[in-house]
Amino acid sequence: MDLAIRYLTVGVWNENSYIIEYKGESVLIDPGDEFDKLDPFFALSGTQHKAIINTHGHFDHVGAIEEFKLKYQIPFYIHSKDKQLVHQANLYRKLAGVNAITKTPKIDGSLDQYESIPLADKQIKIHHTPGHSHGSVCFEIDHALISGDLFFTDCLGRIDLPGGNKELLLNSIKYILDHFAGYQIYPGHGDPFILDQAIMNVLKKLMNERLHSSN
Ligand SMILES: [Zn+2]
Ligand SMILES: [Zn+2]
Repeated sequence: MDLAIRYLTVGVWNENSYIIEYKGESVLIDPGDEFDKLDPFFALSGTQHKAIINTHGHFDHVGAIEEFKLKYQIPFYIHSKDKQLVHQANLYRKLAGVNAITKTPKIDGSLDQYESIPLADKQIKIHHTPGHSHGSVCFEIDHALISGDLFFTDCLGRIDLPGGNKELLLNSIKYILDHFAGYQIYPGHGDPFILDQAIMNVLKKLMNERLHSSN
């Protein structure tokens, strides 16, 4: 089997939960909500789930993690600077207007201790890209980048949520534009897209505006 990246959009915040599959193994990324919908979707190709890794710890990206951990007995990794967000997820869900409680997952390891995560004989490379949250990361494999909430086709990542920081966000997006032109981008919300010149121009304009704005 060739490498496959599939996703399902879940929850009230329309968050994209991803699975990367390769040679019978799979890694789950940001299983954000609706375990009952995600589990059969992720099981479609019969790969063996090896781990859950998260782009960041916001409440809309963590809601189904504990259920996957329990069912498949797999570890969950996130950048250490976002661990607190995971523990506070239910508080922030409530502040965002949703009272349904999700199970807080146990964190088994810190992504900042690794340069990459293995998937069969390939490596998923980890890039620390803070700004949307302090512990935000992007995952690179082949010519694909799972980018979390760092940027989208028509807007930059929010910095008004916990852990947001304007300078860090702009630096991280610049790093992505400098290194990942032409890559297939898989964002935390919205459709995947190719980081082509037109989108890079839009993002550069937005970055310039954000630089000179107060928020
Ligand atoms: Zn977020
Ligand atoms: Zn999000």
